[in-house]
Amino acid sequence: MKDKVNILGVYVDMVGIKQAADRIMQFFNEDKVHKVYTPNSEIIMAAYKDEEFKRLLNGAELLTADGIGVVYAAKILGKPINERAAGYDIACEVLERIRGTSHSVFLFGGKPGVAELAEEKLCEKYPGIRIAGTRNGYFKPEDEQYIVNEINKSGADLLFVCLGAPKQEQWLARNAKRLENIRVAMGIGGSLDVFAGTALRAPDWYCKHGLEWFYRLKKEPWRAKRMLALPKFGFTVLLKGRSGKFPQD
Ligand code: UDP
Repeated sequence: MKDKVNILGVYVDMVGIKQAADRIMQFFNEDKVHKVYTPNSEIIMAAYKDEEFKRLLNGAELLTADGIGVVYAAKILGKPINERAAGYDIACEVLERIRGTSHSVFLFGGKPGVAELAEEKLCEKYPGIRIAGTRNGYFKPEDEQYIVNEINKSGADLLFVCLGAPKQEQWLARNAKRLENIRVAMGIGGSLDVFAGTALRAPDWYCKHGLEWFYRLKKEPWRAKRMLALPKFGFTVLLKGRSGKFPQD
């Protein structure tokens, strides 16, 4: 666990965006589904309180630090991560690397129409990218096998699962074994909305100063309650993170 930091029981890889993309490119060469999740402080707090969710997160082949809270936590715990590695940024880096190659991606999640709009925008932004298929993220349990079949038929080896946490992690826990060609499955929340242009990302200035949460709060004030997880997370890391309960090695 040398290259991971134990944050309240969640083992986060100490990688930035480019290193995460390097790992993902290696995953394509291994004959199994590799799960990639990008927990923020809210997600780690949820896992701290829920053993089953913690187990799902730790079952991933790659877990990156999404958010300034997680980056600070790693520093406090003596295992610094040099930058935030949000799912959206890693996805952009991977798409840039696979465009013009035989790799192809399936876009799964978001409201009806969003994945198709994202496909259109991605084809403009990454000439030569192969989008193997799309599917919205609203379905009944009995539709799951059909969705898996669509993904398998598409021949994609990369899957973006954008259902938000914990739905995307739970979906993959149930279905990863049934995915035949997928080598990398990334749970990347609202990223399809950003690719589609139906949600905006915080301007660079906010991201650079660790204030993306503040921008989101201004734009989506209904998130305030969810965001209380951030200060709670900070206190919990300070109080419990360094106790013997969460050893680093
Ligand atoms: N979503 C979905 N199916 C669901 C619930 C949510 O496809 O049953 C999508 C929703 O449309 C949005 C994304 O999941 O595109 C969640 O976005 P959010 O910003 O809440 O996720 P985060 O990135 O914060 O985890």
